[in-house]
Amino acid sequence: MENHGSRPEVLEALRAGIGVTTRYSATLGARLRYIAMPVESDGAVVGYVRLAMPLAQVERSTGVIGRFIANAAVLATLVGFVLSLVLARSIGNPLRDMALAARQIARGDFGRKIPVRGAGGGDELGQLAESFNYMAEELERSISEISERKNRMETILSAMADSVVAVDRSGRILLMNRAACSMFGISEAQARGKYVLEAIRNHDLAESLNLARAGQADSRELRLHPPGPSYLRLHTAPILDRNGISGAVAVLQDVTDLKRLEQVRTDFVSNVSHELRTPVTSIKGFVDTLLDGAMEDRETLHRFLGIISREADRLAQIISDLLELSSLESKGSEIRKSPVALRSVVDAALGVIQDKAEARNIRIDVEIEPDFPRVPGDEDLLVQVFVNLLDNAVKYTQEGGSVKVSASRDDGTTRVDVSDTGIGIAPEHLPRVFERFYRIDKARSRQLGGTGLGLSIVKHIVERHGGTVSVSSTPGKGSTFSFTLPG
Ligand code: ADP
Repeated sequence: MENHGSRPEVLEALRAGIGVTTRYSATLGARLRYIAMPVESDGAVVGYVRLAMPLAQVERSTGVIGRFIANAAVLATLVGFVLSLVLARSIGNPLRDMALAARQIARGDFGRKIPVRGAGGGDELGQLAESFNYMAEELERSISEISERKNRMETILSAMADSVVAVDRSGRILLMNRAACSMFGISEAQARGKYVLEAIRNHDLAESLNLARAGQADSRELRLHPPGPSYLRLHTAPILDRNGISGAVAVLQDVTDLKRLEQVRTDFVSNVSHELRTPVTSIKGFVDTLLDGAMEDRETLHRFLGIISREADRLAQIISDLLELSSLESKGSEIRKSPVALRSVVDAALGVIQDKAEARNIRIDVEIEPDFPRVPGDEDLLVQVFVNLLDNAVKYTQEGGSVKVSASRDDGTTRVDVSDTGIGIAPEHLPRVFERFYRIDKARSRQLGGTGLGLSIVKHIVERHGGTVSVSSTPGKGSTFSFTLPG
């Protein structure tokens, strides 16, 4: 054979160590597959060996392999299809269950549990289902805890006597408790989401909440217009969360009563000073005049000493009324109650008043039967009540008028009325006549020997008995002072 050293496969083997070609053999007149490799001896290439095989044979073998692969592919597809069906069923169903359960949880229904397949939730899906159920339980617990806390807070807020208003970061109302709603005459539904000025229209409150939203706690006093409370103490503070200030809260306390008490106390101190000073000044004046020589005149001396004595009596009366009041007010002196016959109490008081009444030609009618049921009370204190009420009735009734004392019993409560046909009391004074030192006409009361303490002593004694006092009056026609006693 000719030298085959130039054949492409041999050249390739020369270059790359192995050569493979497919080409047409002119010698055999067919397409052949050639392969050539070097032959080595003692590490040196001594020649090349070349093999050839007709392609038809190769192609036959490849066909067999191809068919095998195709069959295998069809089988694999079939097996794969069946497997994926089985898997889809075993994975898809639990996943669908989970999706459904998740949607129900989102709606707040925690009742649905996902069945855990396999003992102990062995496979991943089982573990997932277990984790899912655990998550649902934890979520339910947290949500019920949160809603419990919210309910508790709402109950506390609505039971609070103080008003609470909370706003969000932008100043819109988030919450108003019941007290706040009734204080500002607005419902929470109307107020929620509105700006404070829009819903409540109180500049001080809006300004203070703005300060709090800027991080500055504030406290101030407000005045409201009737019908609500007149004086309010306002405290505002920022609401802080993880991201900083998320809004502000205002607490409003009704301090109208406190203000009134403060006022009453200030008035009391200045009244006591004034009341004590008047007779002292008068005594001092008369004594000085006497010392300046007036006492040489016996008649003047006599007259001045009479005035000084009266003023001293007044001083003593004020002091004894004050002592009486303070002993009634002190908690220690509990009153001793025993069954008291009202008629005899009134008679005892009449013994003190009768002369004064007769001097002014005023008739006193007592419409209480001697056998009127006894009431539990302190007899001496009750005599004092009637003395004060009758003394007033006589003092503030014109000559020739009349006074009536009556009593009735209803449902375990005794009610006593002392009515007169006197000068009466204008409506604006009625709520204050039981206050200490409150007198409608100071000069007249002083002239009549009043201290302004009579009615407040009556009120105290009646309240110590567990009863209440009241008054009704028509100016120019007369007044009725009433009190109740339990039992
Ligand atoms: P006073 O010592 O001045 O009588 P009170 O506390 O007893 O003080 O009464 C307070 C005021 O109430 C009196 O100053 C008087 O103006 C008025 N008042 C009390 N009782 C009567 C009455 N029966 N009729 C009219 N006014 C009365």
